[in-house]
Amino acid sequence: MEHSTSLIALVVVGLGFAFVLGTIAQRLKISPIVGYLLAGVMVGPFTPGFVADSALALQLADIGVVLLMFGVGLHFAPSDLLAVRAVALPGAILQVLASAVLGACLGHVLGWPLPESIVFGLSLSVASTVVMMRALQDRRLIDSERGRIAAGWLVVQDLLTVLVLVLLPPLSGLLRHAGTGIDVGALAASLAITLGKLAAFVVLMLVVGRRVMPAVLHYIADSGSRELFRLAVLAVALGVAFAASRLFGVSIALGAFFGGMILSESPLSQRAAEESLPFRDAFAVLFFVSVGMAFNPWVITQQPGALAMTLAVVLSAAAVAFLIVRAFGYPLRTALLIGAGLAQIGEFSFILADLGVGLGVLPSRGRDLILGTSILSIFANPLLFSGSDWLQRRFAPDAPSSAPAAPSGHVIVVGYGRVGQIVCAGLAQAGIPLVAIDEGSNEVRALSARHIAHVAGNAAKPEILAAANLAAARMLFVAIPGAFEAGQIVQQARRANPALRIVARAHFDAEVEHLTEHGADVVIMGEREIARAMLDEAAIGEPNGKSTTAA
Ligand code: AMP
Repeated sequence: MEHSTSLIALVVVGLGFAFVLGTIAQRLKISPIVGYLLAGVMVGPFTPGFVADSALALQLADIGVVLLMFGVGLHFAPSDLLAVRAVALPGAILQVLASAVLGACLGHVLGWPLPESIVFGLSLSVASTVVMMRALQDRRLIDSERGRIAAGWLVVQDLLTVLVLVLLPPLSGLLRHAGTGIDVGALAASLAITLGKLAAFVVLMLVVGRRVMPAVLHYIADSGSRELFRLAVLAVALGVAFAASRLFGVSIALGAFFGGMILSESPLSQRAAEESLPFRDAFAVLFFVSVGMAFNPWVITQQPGALAMTLAVVLSAAAVAFLIVRAFGYPLRTALLIGAGLAQIGEFSFILADLGVGLGVLPSRGRDLILGTSILSIFANPLLFSGSDWLQRRFAPDAPSSAPAAPSGHVIVVGYGRVGQIVCAGLAQAGIPLVAIDEGSNEVRALSARHIAHVAGNAAKPEILAAANLAAARMLFVAIPGAFEAGQIVQQARRANPALRIVARAHFDAEVEHLTEHGADVVIMGEREIARAMLDEAAIGEPNGKSTTAA
């Protein structure tokens, strides 16, 4: 492959395979992440056929990591993070210690000296932030208390990794020649420098970044150019992450997270998140492809025993985290979520392992095991989540409806935003029984406060629709702006209840068609209604040929 075209080849082939395999995975009802990883294995150097440039893949993957963490940060006010420190800080430290000790024991069993075993153990103790955050995002849990604890936990893990990365080079000398003396002064100095840089970064972000970054975005937003706004968001996200890693020795993931968190207080944060979404998704896919590329599938046949034991250590993090979270008195579902989320390893483990091999304190076989385990644990992760969902349903079912069991002959309103609130108020005034569905935590709080029967969650999920007693409902209003999810909701509702009258909301003609095809009786196109109301103001009728609704 000509070098000049290797970037294009990587993006085209990588995304192409990821798309095909991701779609197949989705069809098979497993996480598309598994498909992306397999796509990476296929374009990687260990399988025949096209081989993409791994170094380039890693750089693109880093962009994915930055955008993902930035997006996560946008959902977090610094106060959210402080609110969960009581559990996240001791929890993460305990869990990392426990996992590292287990991993070190395994290293001992594999016949490695103590220093190697310790580095091996440490590499197995930190989860991939990207994988866990994606899982939370897919489940729309970022804004929940569970999601915040998980994120806080990851931030602590991240900070611990940064410390290990900095301390490993000076410590490796000590580890290798135990007893020959170590320059304690130098060690303390590098620790102090690391912590000092970290503190400087945080202070700089809180003092300068907090003022400058929102101001820049506001300035651009006022200019009215969507393109420039997008560009500003990207420049801020990538710039902060890059500066964090280059100037302050903070990982780019943590730097980007901080950048997002600082912006989260700005009223523009929601828009910033939306504008960076398409980039984020594309680059996050490349992250998973690059992980797949590094995987040598032959490890599975060459050292199955060692691999299985390593995987067991990583999976045991789930049990450890579960117990810790329960010990802190959190409900079962919180403990299950954190446990399932942490039972995988990823980018931090690769970085640690690489450094260990470079310093001669980890055999390269250890790195192969770590990579293999990472792939297998990321593969297994969606299954673990399904398992934890099952356990939760079995032992601690959500109380989805805060009001008494959904009535029958009622009306269901999906979405309690600008549209849904007015619809609900109208129905309530007319004395019509209703059940609202919304996934946003603020909306759910509002519904509870107003004593409106509701179900919290994504209405595109069958169990959420079922919890609203869809089968016995008389009418369904789909008042959410996203036509893709609205289509899924309409389709399921039509299947479950052929007699149901379904009224949906759209913003484009194509969406009207899409929703009608999926079974909506009436589709209201928002923009057309606005136009009609505007013409009404001039007492002029609608031009010919455009009807408001599709029957
Ligand atoms: P608005 O555009 O202001 O009418 O707000 C739409 C509302 O719909 C928001 O409160 C969202 O949280 C909610 N929403 C969007 N998609 C879904 C979904 N798939 N399931 C449940 N609620 C949703």
